[in-house]
Amino acid sequence: MVDIVDSATRSRMMSGIRGRNTKPEILIRSLLHRQGFRFRLDVRDLPGRPDIVLPRYRAVVLVHGCFWHGHDCRLFKWPQTRPEFWRDKIGRNRTNDHKVRHALLAGGWRVAVVWECALRGANRDIEGVLQRLVEWLRSEEPEFEERG
Ligand SMILES: [Zn+2]
Repeated sequence: MVDIVDSATRSRMMSGIRGRNTKPEILIRSLLHRQGFRFRLDVRDLPGRPDIVLPRYRAVVLVHGCFWHGHDCRLFKWPQTRPEFWRDKIGRNRTNDHKVRHALLAGGWRVAVVWECALRGANRDIEGVLQRLVEWLRSEEPEFEERG
């Protein structure tokens, strides 16, 4: 079986560090910044401490790594070692994601989830993702999701 997790992803997985300031997050942040959007980073008083908060648009953008957030996609693969540990860990992350999204929505925030797989791989369309995200920011829609 071909191992689809690259070495950088693997070392991140194994080091056990959750993806703060991961590359996809920095990419989205800098693209939005270039479009003139301004935000607050790492807002600790909001549920889940969202990565990107745009108070003016009452919006948060969550950039989810597909491994940590257990995304059903080409980038996700269960590690072969310690299956119970990973099932428990990823399962808790997913439950937490669900709670965070609902808590933010309940608090009147609009919530965008951009999955890592939308930004990586041969078929990625980063300009398209950005364009749809910007359209959503300027809309009144409560939720947005972009995946590969
Ligand atoms: Zn994914």
